[in-house]
Amino acid sequence: MVRKRVVLTGGAGFIGSHLCERLIKEDFKVICLDNLITGSLKNIRHLFKNSNFIFIEHDVSKYIRLRDKVNYVLHFASPASPEDYLKFPIQTLKVGSLGTHNALGLAKEKRAVFMLASTSEVYGDPLVHPQPENYWGNVNPVGVRGCYDEAKRFAEAITMAYCRVHKVDTKIVRIFNTYGPRMRLHDGRVVPNFIFQALTNKPLTVYGRGNQTRSFCYIDDLIEGILRLMRSGIKEPLNLGNQHEFTILQLAKLIVRLTGTKSKIVFKSLPQDDPRQRKPDITRAARILKWQPKIGLEEGLCNTIGWFKAFEKKALSLTHSI
Ligand code: UDP
Repeated sequence: MVRKRVVLTGGAGFIGSHLCERLIKEDFKVICLDNLITGSLKNIRHLFKNSNFIFIEHDVSKYIRLRDKVNYVLHFASPASPEDYLKFPIQTLKVGSLGTHNALGLAKEKRAVFMLASTSEVYGDPLVHPQPENYWGNVNPVGVRGCYDEAKRFAEAITMAYCRVHKVDTKIVRIFNTYGPRMRLHDGRVVPNFIFQALTNKPLTVYGRGNQTRSFCYIDDLIEGILRLMRSGIKEPLNLGNQHEFTILQLAKLIVRLTGTKSKIVFKSLPQDDPRQRKPDITRAARILKWQPKIGLEEGLCNTIGWFKAFEKKALSLTHSI
């Protein structure tokens, strides 16, 4: 059997590495590109001996040259944690703009299907709740999150332009807060932050009063949705995420309970432009892809906590003994 070839940018990241694994299982050959700015070889090292996996260290903001036939280009490269894009705002803007242009160019040249990993951040601090795909958003272009939000909004616009002008078969997935094994311990996002703090008996840092909301999707559910979208004929952006909404304070209390930590909850100042509420409207994904998240927050957090305990043992015990 000849395997279809997928080029996956950002394949060494959290979502990217799970996608690599699943694609190989589904009989694809994966060419993973990553410059490792936030991704890590740790996430993909176990795939190196697989003949259906190739890793190329490359910054996709620079021209992508590949000789082989390619059937799919999945553009998942970008810093995605607010802490990361605050640290790397220019790289974030470049990978969303130049990187998307290069990835689209590759898809056009190879006549490949293209998928853009977009984000719920295109809705900014939303004034419509829950957020359907036809909501245009409420983004501060010059605020500290603007580098990510506007890069992704530009990425969506150029993807639609390639679809309309060059007839590239494009898909856009708007990914809502996703969590699970392989998030970095010091990623800065709320789930790994709270788990790290709980497992090292440090105070859980809730920003603001903790009444802002998010809806957390377990990684396996997201990957299933992405595979379905990849094989679908949908061209318009599609939301993927879990529709169960929690306040950040509820999340903190749940992690305290599930880990059995002695940690207290403390309140810190709210970062600038932190969205007050977020919950996807996934009516379209449910109807068209027959997709629904299956893993609830408690089950997903237990898996994630178990993974951190097993795979970050050294980092956790070092921190613990300081
Ligand atoms: N947050 C928090 N404590 C932390 C990290 C994050 O209270 O240690 C809050 C953050 O202010 C936001 C929410 O948790 O309201 C989700 O933040 P995250 O960085 O995970 O991603 P976002 O959804 O904001 O992109």
